[in-house]
Amino acid sequence: MGALNPVAAKRIFQDVWICMRCNAKNRSNHSKPPAKCRKCNSRKLRLRKKGKKKSA
Ligand SMILES: [Zn+2]
Repeated sequence: MGALNPVAAKRIFQDVWICMRCNAKNRSNHSKPPAKCRKCNSRKLRLRKKGKKKSA
């Protein structure tokens, strides 16, 4: 177990939505985006995309 499985990594990044207001991560089910942020109830969510590894 060294490198991350590409399939698993893809799934992880695909199912995470970022709130554009408070930057909270919202996990979603497969092909079912969250209606709103679980923290601030904002509906402005963007899908997290796999990019640079250091995304704090
Ligand atoms: Zn939020």
